[in-house]
Amino acid sequence: MSTQVFETLESNVRSYSRSFPALFNKAKGSHLYTANGDAYIDFLMGAGALNYGHNNEYIKQQLLAYMAEDNIMQGLDLFTVAKSEFITAFNDLLLKPKGLEYKFQFCGPTGTNAIEAALKLARNYTKRSNVIAFMGAYHGLSQGSLALTSNQYHRQVAGVGLHNVTFLPFENNGPAGFDSLAYLELMLEDTHSGIEKPAAVILETVQAEGGVNVASPEWLRGLKQICEKHGILFIADDIQIGCGRSGDFFSFEEAGIKPDIVVLSKSLSGYGLPMAMLLLKPELDIWQPGEHNGTFRGYQLAFIGAKAALEFRRDTGLEAAVKQKASYIERFLKEELAAADERIVIRGRGLMWGIDLSSFEDPLLAKKVAQQSFQDKLIVECVGRHDKVVKLLPALTIEQETLDQALNILQRHITANISSGASAKKVHA
Ligand code: PMP
Repeated sequence: MSTQVFETLESNVRSYSRSFPALFNKAKGSHLYTANGDAYIDFLMGAGALNYGHNNEYIKQQLLAYMAEDNIMQGLDLFTVAKSEFITAFNDLLLKPKGLEYKFQFCGPTGTNAIEAALKLARNYTKRSNVIAFMGAYHGLSQGSLALTSNQYHRQVAGVGLHNVTFLPFENNGPAGFDSLAYLELMLEDTHSGIEKPAAVILETVQAEGGVNVASPEWLRGLKQICEKHGILFIADDIQIGCGRSGDFFSFEEAGIKPDIVVLSKSLSGYGLPMAMLLLKPELDIWQPGEHNGTFRGYQLAFIGAKAALEFRRDTGLEAAVKQKASYIERFLKEELAAADERIVIRGRGLMWGIDLSSFEDPLLAKKVAQQSFQDKLIVECVGRHDKVVKLLPALTIEQETLDQALNILQRHITANISSGASAKKVHA
């Protein structure tokens, strides 16, 4: 079987298949298998939608049992047993023990749908239109969320003005010494700042597509304090770094903050099934019935998968395992990989890591490493400005042996490229 049908009939808009042009068929755990039976290690994991691995056995059994009994599959926002059990489990297993109190709003089943809902709510609640977002952010590509997404490549095809957003540099991503929080305070307090008071601040605590830029707990707390002082809503986009990837279920737990709105999607259903929701502080729930409707807010299999994922997490001690693997990867990347060359910069948290190769002269170095890794049967993508950061996004359930194989492939190609001379010249030589 060939890939010809895609080249002739599928729109040019396809993206991942360009970097990884194999014909995939089966998948299990951390591996993808082609139609020919070749096994690839997956360090992309559905762009973060498969934290519990491909076809997680525990979750799969719950899904199969649910379907076998002809339980309801599509329920709009009707009351269903599956949804009731999911909300109860999420509340009992996560929110209550963490001292969090939120109402659940189910949205159309993609990340961008949920971001649109959060924006609409924040604007209606505060009766303000401006929103603060950060340079390097990725919040989705529909019109409202695209306005919050900084990449010019995506913005240029909007076809309309992308307004009502003010961008600030993310922590450690502006000019040297630039303090975004001090600047934000100035904007809010100076009556001549020329910038409208915002409804909300929205951010990923770790910018994923933006190059794995990690906000410190202190910076997050500072930002939250400014929001509280000025009556601005704090929206955490936990679509990619949430659902356990940071080590905790929510990425903001480490900072000890409680966002006003939390946006979740991607790995929420546990099985790669489409699902998205907002968690909102109860006082924000000013919605009138049906004001933000959507047909696919009631995909019942996603509720079943999402509840099973929480059980899997609890029963397998996943949180502790992620934290242990996180230190293992961090040590390897910093002490074994980056120690070899000061131009290799490592950033990350939990099981999302970036190898930043932007200090090398060769602008395509990261892409070459990713391409060569793919030849060696490792799927890994490049992110950040001009795609100069290799992004590691393993399954949270990855076995040690597979993890080591993947890290060795990356190390081999990075070292070979650096020492080949093509990229070896120092930028500031
Ligand atoms: N926010 C973040 C942080 C994301 O990583 C993504 C997807 N990469 C989105 C929003 C948009 O999600 P979706 O592609 O499901 O619309």
